[in-house]
Order: sequence, then structure tokens, then C-alpha cells
Amino acid sequence: MTVDVEDFFHVSAFDSIIKPEDWDQYKPRVDANTRRLLDVFAKADVKSTFFVLGWVAELYPQLIKDIHAQGHEIASHGYAHRRAYQQTREELTADIIRSKTHLEDLIGEPVIGYRAPSFSIGYDNEWAFEVLAELKFKYSSSTYPVKHDLYGTPDWPRFAYQRPENIIEIPIPTLKLMGKQVPIGGGGYFRLYPYKMTRMLVNRYLNQEKQPYSFYFHPWEIDGEQPRLTNAPLKSRFRHYINLDKTEAKLERLLADFNWSTMKDVYGVA
Ligand SMILES: [Zn+2]
Repeated sequence: MTVDVEDFFHVSAFDSIIKPEDWDQYKPRVDANTRRLLDVFAKADVKSTFFVLGWVAELYPQLIKDIHAQGHEIASHGYAHRRAYQQTREELTADIIRSKTHLEDLIGEPVIGYRAPSFSIGYDNEWAFEVLAELKFKYSSSTYPVKHDLYGTPDWPRFAYQRPENIIEIPIPTLKLMGKQVPIGGGGYFRLYPYKMTRMLVNRYLNQEKQPYSFYFHPWEIDGEQPRLTNAPLKSRFRHYINLDKTEAKLERLLADFNWSTMKDVYGVA
């Protein structure tokens, strides 16, 4: 189980209308939403990996300490939520160091996992894995083997594998359905479909592939009260706002129906 700890104004779908220099104009909701999520996990007795955005960690250090104190894994989602393929090697390195160092100072132990914003490691920036290995990450979960307008490496491995750069990559899960590779890792799809559909897809994945399944989620996905960004593109608004009110209940069912743990425990990365 994984959570990308970021606020509603950080998401890539809105980056055409909200620039990082505008972030301060929004009232953050990520602290309250993540704490609500921590309660949901505690009630279900589930441990999760939290890929924390450095920007959030600098604003809410106590939140990160509390997540860690509750037995969850703290991992890095970079600092400023820029897609990896939009950065030079130097920029990406600086962005990740800023996040990783701060997280390690807060929790007092090494951070070994990284997830690129919007699964943005792919064909044009495989060197990003070298950067991660140099920065002593043990695993990454930054690729999504599907065709999508913002990301996607459809012909890369679909299951966790050792990269030549000496790092384990854990792709977001996909299922082969009617000759297509379908994304089933979470996000808008989870909110869009009835819960039973998700359960069916996860069960099919587990039975068919005999691989661990990983799910990703964001704190804003249970926040039906968040301000609506009316000037965002229609497709982005649809993806972002669909079924926010129903998602916490769906998540509770998902947590109850399967056995979950942190990335480092499930994939045996120490
Ligand atoms: Zn993100």
C-alpha cells in the first residue's frame, strides 16, 4: 500500500494552471487529510509506504514524524513535484537530495524508496535510475507500463525487477485485458469504477500473475471539501473530482479485503 503525500494543488494534472510559485496562495489541506488517512490505516491495522513530497515535509515536519512513529515507511516523492523528464540531471539530483536529506533528518534513518512525480521515468531519462542509485536509494516505483498522455513505458517490465544501475524498480501494476495493458494501480480509476470492479481486477492480477500488487493513493482523494479549481482543463477536473466523497469507504473495503504492507517489507528491500 502506498500513499503519495502531496496536496491538491501539487498534482500534475493542474500544473498548467498552478505553478510552484503559486503554491503559497492555497491553504494546505494535506496535513489534515493525511492524518485522516492515518486513522483509516490504524483502524484497518495496515502499514503503508508514504512517498512524501519534500515541500510538504518542510511545512509539516511533525506529520512526517507521526507517520513514521505509527510504523509506516517514509519514502521520497522528490521536493517540488516536477516530472523527472522535465529536469536536467543536475536539477533532478538537487530536487531529490533536498527531499531525501530533510526526510532522513526528521526520522533519523535512511530513506531507501523513491517515486517520481507522475511516474515520469521512461524512455528518455533512464539516467534517472543512475541518479537514484548514486543517492543510495534501494528501490524506485516510478514507471507505469501503460500508454497515457502524461507518462508510460508500455513495453518495459510489468513486475519488480533489478535494474542494471543497481536499484530495484517496482512498476505500477497493470493487467492484460483483451490484448491491452490496462492500468490498475489506483488513482482516478479507483474512484471512477465501483469498488467491486477494483476487487475483481486485483484478484485477477494476484491469481494470474502471482506477483505482489501495489496500490497508490493521495490524501486529497478522500477530501470532498477541497476547493474546486474551475479554470482547470475539463479532463483534469473530471479525473480529479470524480467520486471524492465515496473514496474513503472504498479504501476501507480495499484495506479489509487484502493483506497489505510497506514496499520495503513486501519486496524484501532492506
Ligand atoms: Zn505526485
